Amino acid sequence: MIDSPYLKELNGYIDGAWVAADSGKTFDVKNPATGELLAQVAAMGPDETTRAIDAAEAARFNGASFEQRVEWLLAIDRELRAGKEEIGRILTMEHGKPLAEAIAEVEYAAGFFKDAAENIDCIKPHTLDTKPRGCTWTVHYRPAGTVALVTPWNFPIGMIAKKLAPAIAANCPSVTKASSKTPLSMICLFSILHEKLDLPKGFVNLVSGSAGPISDTLCADHRVAVLSFTGSTGIGVQLIDRTKDHCKRLALELGGNAPFIVFEDADLDKAADNLAANKFRGGGQTCVCANRVLVQKGVADAFTEKFVERVKKIKVGNGLDEGVTMGPLIDKNGFNKVREHVQDALDKGATIVTGQLMPLATENFGCFYPPTVLRGVTPQAACFREETFGPLAPIIEFEDEEEAIRLANDTEFGLASYVFSQDIDRAERVAERIHFGHCGINTGTGPTPEAPFGGMLESGWGREGGTEGLHEFVEPQTIPHG
Ligand code: NAP
Repeated sequence: MIDSPYLKELNGYIDGAWVAADSGKTFDVKNPATGELLAQVAAMGPDETTRAIDAAEAARFNGASFEQRVEWLLAIDRELRAGKEEIGRILTMEHGKPLAEAIAEVEYAAGFFKDAAENIDCIKPHTLDTKPRGCTWTVHYRPAGTVALVTPWNFPIGMIAKKLAPAIAANCPSVTKASSKTPLSMICLFSILHEKLDLPKGFVNLVSGSAGPISDTLCADHRVAVLSFTGSTGIGVQLIDRTKDHCKRLALELGGNAPFIVFEDADLDKAADNLAANKFRGGGQTCVCANRVLVQKGVADAFTEKFVERVKKIKVGNGLDEGVTMGPLIDKNGFNKVREHVQDALDKGATIVTGQLMPLATENFGCFYPPTVLRGVTPQAACFREETFGPLAPIIEFEDEEEAIRLANDTEFGLASYVFSQDIDRAERVAERIHFGHCGINTGTGPTPEAPFGGMLESGWGREGGTEGLHEFVEPQTIPHG
């Protein structure tokens, strides 16, 4: 079992106190690298969720000034940075990613609290310079109300930071539900909120347990004004349906199918470095991981060779072990999806350049899939059409700019994309014509707290980060004074 000063409690957090499940039941959290039982966490349901919403409602109109909220946000930033190594260790144990990546994720999370503090002026009231209709017009950005925050397992602390930071900045009380695969990093964050900050009771609440009953309650309760969800498009679409009766505002950060386009005139070493770093981060389990590598025909051999050189240096293993640069898949379903995509591409004529077709996984731990690169992949392959969410890099060749744009846009998703070319006019022209909310030009970097990030089309609604992220949790109210 895991032992840490951040995990003195393995419960939910409601109305300013740690609480066990009413039923007394718990669920197991296991290390995906080793199968070790790490913790048993409270398995809550609809009753606890309703009490969390009650507590949040009672914490509205708490009178916290902008200055007070900035103090809270900066304190969380400070405490996360101070605890990054211990929280990173816990994050690696529950998720599997290498320790250095986990620590970087804690710093990334801290950045959202700092950035929300620095951007808070954008939600302060302002008065129009002109006086239409003979009145003085002031626009206030009121807290939207109680907000529900639902996060996935692939960034156990990064994803909640993107939601909780703007919610606190906007003075919205919240009810958070972590993924039951990775609830421990979330408990670390709540132990900071409980022990180091003096927040109004009920302002931040945490419920843990099975997603269905908890999210049904969050969707059905008219008092929840905003539901901010990060996860798969399939669940996101269900949430649209389940919240329509109350016109609940949804912020949806959903799946991707990122194209990584390499033109003949690209700096091939730079493109290969960036692809290797982007593709295998989190074991390929990030929404911004390149999913389709589109390479112009004339450089396909040279680029593949450079990329494969880098891929062969990746060391797969337990994220806590020295020198490991890629961890396991989260579970056997994740592993078997990668396997299925490799098999499907091979059946459709692709060949393996490095890596392999692995046997089916039967256990939910130790699901280490070797980084695999395929060539000769066609748009009919499942790995072209769907997000693989694993360490598979399929290379697809194209003739010219028009074909690259057509292939990149040949998906219903629109989250991240990347273009590598030394002709900046061309790269910008391509960025303008492809339907993705994020387009890295000569970089494989994903989002940063300072800038808005989100998807087009079936990759979601709304933005997180930057000043746009703060506006997801406020309602403008216009007051003309006669
Ligand atoms: P998921 O299965 O959709 O789960 C996401 C969250 O929803 C978890 O907390 C999960 O809880 C909960 N959930 C599961 N079933 C639910 C239901 N019926 N109703 C309401 N909530 C439910 O996604 P995931 O596998 O954790 O995450 C991977 C996906 O997230 C990928 O598609 C990835 O691209 C996407 N993602 C997108 C972004 C972005 O910024 N756009 C960022 C990260 C990830 P339990 O885990 O407890 O079941």
